[in-house]
Amino acid sequence: MIIQDLQVNSRKLPLHMPFKTALRIATEIESIEVSLILENGVIGKGAAAPTFVITGDSSEGMEAALIGPIKNALIGLDITLFQTALQRVQSCCVGNPSAKAAADIALHDAYCKLLNLPLHAFLGDKKPLHTCMTIGVDTPEKMASDAIKSVKDGFQILKVKVGANPELDIDRIEAIQEVVDETTKLRLDANQGWKPKQAVWLINEMEKREFNIEFIEQPVVSYDLEGLKFVTERVGVPIMADESLFSAKDTMKLITGRYIDLLNIKLMKCGGISQAWTIASIAETNGVECMIGSMMEPAFSVGAAAHFAAAHPNVKYFDLDAPLWLSEEPDVLKYNGADIQLSDSPGIGVVEN
Ligand code: MG
Repeated sequence: MIIQDLQVNSRKLPLHMPFKTALRIATEIESIEVSLILENGVIGKGAAAPTFVITGDSSEGMEAALIGPIKNALIGLDITLFQTALQRVQSCCVGNPSAKAAADIALHDAYCKLLNLPLHAFLGDKKPLHTCMTIGVDTPEKMASDAIKSVKDGFQILKVKVGANPELDIDRIEAIQEVVDETTKLRLDANQGWKPKQAVWLINEMEKREFNIEFIEQPVVSYDLEGLKFVTERVGVPIMADESLFSAKDTMKLITGRYIDLLNIKLMKCGGISQAWTIASIAETNGVECMIGSMMEPAFSVGAAAHFAAAHPNVKYFDLDAPLWLSEEPDVLKYNGADIQLSDSPGIGVVEN
């Protein structure tokens, strides 16, 4: 079944409240949408968002990669040579992980539609998914009131953004800890905002105060792997790589060098489902657990990530709340509090209401 065409469309998706991290404040995202058209008329859909400050992907760059080398690599290929198609997307150009993710998702959607299978069934499992909810970095008072609302909305795990004005971080976590009960777990994400010694001091202080912290993401700047290791070796709370992890090669390095305890996989960083699967499998072989995360992204690409997470046995933690920040309703996922319902229609699918 020949791939006949690849088309790209982009649109802006407003957020219903600003998303604040140590790296950026977002009020809207751009959705880059791919349609992959097969000779029998089946259309595979893919989507992605540019996150310049993390992956280097801009919307213009993504469109250029998709209608240039990625399209050239796929047009005329038989999609039943599925692994060849996935491989061509990865090898046709350097970088551009989010553009590659959009194409990889579209290939999965098209192939699953051809096979008449939901993506989770094609990948081979459907474990339950429960997401955390993000608390954006802000004043301790605002973060505590956001935490109260999220717990009321049914979230038992809060992902708390820290690392902007680090001198406030202990107060931020203390304020949240005071308003939630002991069943609420906190995941901290410094988004590279701490220095290594500062991170050790802050985390040790949080440990002394017995905050209920499950793990801490990316305490220091992405390229400072020795700094990451310095922190990992000196604290009890597990440390997770996010911005330091893009590829399967990064995975090998982070694990064999014992730089971190856990990995945060995002389709936008690694280039899609095929690469995410490889990363999670390398980590599984080495006894390192993974989380599936997302950028602020369209619901469609988060839907693809959710199918992957439900199917791969080594994805143990789920951070897939991005669609809940968008003004428009997600159509490929359904949220009931923290529980995520996947679509059972072919491909990434549509959830019936
Ligand atoms: Mg993160």
